[in-house]
Amino acid sequence: MTAATFDVINPATERVVETVALTSAEETDEAIVRAAAAFPSWRAVAPGERAALLRAFASAVDADRENLARLEVANSGHTISNARWEAGNVRDVLNYYAAAPERLFGRQIPVPGGLDVTFAEPLGVVGVIVPWNFPMPIAGWGFAPALAAGNTVVLKPAELTPLTALRLGELAREAGIPDDAFQVLPGKGSVVGQRFVDHPAVRKIVFTGSTEVGKQIMAGCAASVKRVTLELGGKNANIVFADADLEKAAATAPYGVFDNAGQDCCARSRILVQRGVFDRFLELLEPAVHGVVVGDPGDEATEMGPLISAAHRASVAGYVPPGAPVAFRGSAPDGPGFWFPPTVLLPSSVDDRTVVEEIFGPVVTVQAFDEEADAVRMANATEYGLSGSIWTRDVGRALRVARGVEAGNLSVNSHSSVRYWTPFGGVKQSGLGRELGPDALAAFTETKNVFISTEG
Ligand code: NAD
Repeated sequence: MTAATFDVINPATERVVETVALTSAEETDEAIVRAAAAFPSWRAVAPGERAALLRAFASAVDADRENLARLEVANSGHTISNARWEAGNVRDVLNYYAAAPERLFGRQIPVPGGLDVTFAEPLGVVGVIVPWNFPMPIAGWGFAPALAAGNTVVLKPAELTPLTALRLGELAREAGIPDDAFQVLPGKGSVVGQRFVDHPAVRKIVFTGSTEVGKQIMAGCAASVKRVTLELGGKNANIVFADADLEKAAATAPYGVFDNAGQDCCARSRILVQRGVFDRFLELLEPAVHGVVVGDPGDEATEMGPLISAAHRASVAGYVPPGAPVAFRGSAPDGPGFWFPPTVLLPSSVDDRTVVEEIFGPVVTVQAFDEEADAVRMANATEYGLSGSIWTRDVGRALRVARGVEAGNLSVNSHSSVRYWTPFGGVKQSGLGRELGPDALAAFTETKNVFISTEG
């Protein structure tokens, strides 16, 4: 029987980049069994040695950074500057968690009649399921802390974007990570991902993807009380107050939403502007949107590439039908490629589907608000709660609004969301648990308490 395969398409050219064999359910089970068998020896690797192996993996990623970045440009249409950052992020996350094995401290708790100590025990096999929008960083946020804590990992990249994950698997082997401690299994969610959820030897799922699939995964994990971290969708607000540096807010707003062609769970896809400066903000926003350089993602000057697939472009285009309230649009190349121009909409209702649903493309809505309380209410009128931005010169207001907006990651007078050494994750239906930062190891360990009697 010939193995099923998948043609990986370059979204900027529509040409086949590579044909990848899809892992079957049986092969997935075999890989999980190997990962479970590798767990006792991987967790027993001395902390300093495990740290050295992770640093060697980071160095291998660093040495291959340009190749990884070019692979991502070809597979995902990411701009070359973004793709370099993404490969560098994998290196940095590996280095950051390489410091963890020697620091996985337990505690000694005072008790009568003996000694009480806690241990941070690894869980076993961890299944990491990755979406197509940031194939490298999201994989690394799962596998780096999981491996550092002494777990073995099976990783499933998204069907559309397996190439950098497969290369990371090779680099791990070259660096000396044992073959079965970290395995990359390209394949379908309904096959490979589902086996991760159903197989009893997988003790934890780290899932990043849509809220819809995340709910199914959580339900599936409930059957065996499998641990789960979920990073799901977002519909994030960019709130601009009248006292803000309007020039800077308008100049940066396109990059807060159109980066990665809007295929970003943190995209600030709802701009809320205080009514008194609404018209002025739009005047400033228009040239900024026209200035976004859309084109060949391999070109150093390009700021936005294509969407990931023809099907996804059709879905995004569905939000901008003829007669849609388009304020203005940026440019997009003609010819092959799944292009869609940066698009600014002025919806008339707060219930419009462009305001409520995650479009996951370069489409942003702009709406007016009156008072601070209205801004917070509008920002929170969503089931999502991942990120957001607040533009104001009033420090008190910045803090009040940052505390009032229901989201896991907020930035004031900037659009930054992700630093590998600070926690990242969502509230409400944007997810469960936190990745990155100093506490991520807790999501890959269980606390064991041991009492040792000193009675004679
Ligand atoms: P998706 O949910 O369709 O797929 C995500 C992954 O899950 C893929 O690898 C897919 O193959 C797999 N999968 C699908 N069905 C499965 C099943 N039944 N069992 C197990 N695995 C299954 O999402 P996508 O379209 O690849 O990514 C886009 C979504 O990801 C957006 O909603 C976006 O907001 C979200 N996202 C969230 C974050 C975050 O950190 N919160 C980051 C990036 C993307």
